Amino acid sequence: MTTHDEPVDSVLETIGRTPLVRLQDGPTDVPIYAKLESFNPGASIKDRIGQYMLERMLERGDVSPGGTIIEPTAGNTGIGLAVAAGQLGLDAIFVVPERFSQEKQQLMSALGGEVINTPTEDGMDRAIERAHELASELDNAAVPQQFSNPLNTEAHYELTAPEIFDALDGAVGAVVAGCGTAGTLMGIARYALEQDPETHVVAVEPEGSVYGDLIGEDRDEGEYKTEGIGTHDTDTNELFDPELVDDIDAIPDRDAHAELKRLAREEGHLVASSAGAASVAAKRVARRIDDGDLDVPHETVVTLFPDSSERYLSKGIYRSFEEWSS
Ligand code: PMP
Repeated sequence: MTTHDEPVDSVLETIGRTPLVRLQDGPTDVPIYAKLESFNPGASIKDRIGQYMLERMLERGDVSPGGTIIEPTAGNTGIGLAVAAGQLGLDAIFVVPERFSQEKQQLMSALGGEVINTPTEDGMDRAIERAHELASELDNAAVPQQFSNPLNTEAHYELTAPEIFDALDGAVGAVVAGCGTAGTLMGIARYALEQDPETHVVAVEPEGSVYGDLIGEDRDEGEYKTEGIGTHDTDTNELFDPELVDDIDAIPDRDAHAELKRLAREEGHLVASSAGAASVAAKRVARRIDDGDLDVPHETVVTLFPDSSERYLSKGIYRSFEEWSS
């Protein structure tokens, strides 16, 4: 492991060890730290699982150099996998529902991946099905399948969580993170709860997503513009373990959007909608701690900003809420 201060031989060695930056807009006595995952070479948190899953799959012999990996993805995982696949001698095919950002799809292609679109209305389930169909037609092909692959969670347990705990000398009282596959939150939560079972864990989803149903909240399903987090069908999200979370906070698109714009204007963070939602939820937790409403082992809240807003400029992310398209 390098510190980023030393020269390295491969871009893969620059993945991880991202900065942890204190937010300026929380209660003054309860610091909130955000881990800036756009500092990874593929500019998102998914570089971590791209490298981790492929290295483990090569070690296990699920696929060998010269083979192909095929992944259903909203984009960031495709980019992370494409960065790693190229360096590890693998070809990559990505099955992406049409609605996801053009920038992400272009980047997957630039990194040498092949992009296949599925209709937006068929959802992620169809993309997953199509990836498996393609894999069965090819020799030496494997589907990492981030939605059900325990290596996704393990990457964050082994890498992301220890980085956070090391940076804060273990003083982490609450972990707040958006859930798409839920690999990020589950990996960090599992690690955090091993350090202290009283750590407060909050999952974040957009309003319209139905993760909340898993902890007995009756969520109204609907469309949302926030990209990368949430689910319409919890059967797909096999990694999410309701036992590890205390709360699932549903953030309206409008609040996530106002916050991502504020984060840029006031704090210099060029982050996207899932970070906006995470920031709103993290501030809510910090305020509850500050009000004495929540007991935590340390009065420090940690969240993650998964990617960069530059990836969504074509969707009008910095325009008005109405002009921002999903
Ligand atoms: N934010 C963005 C922009 C993402 O692409 C993702 C991954 N889908 C997440 C948050 C959530 O990460 P995870 O899949 O680990 O829950």
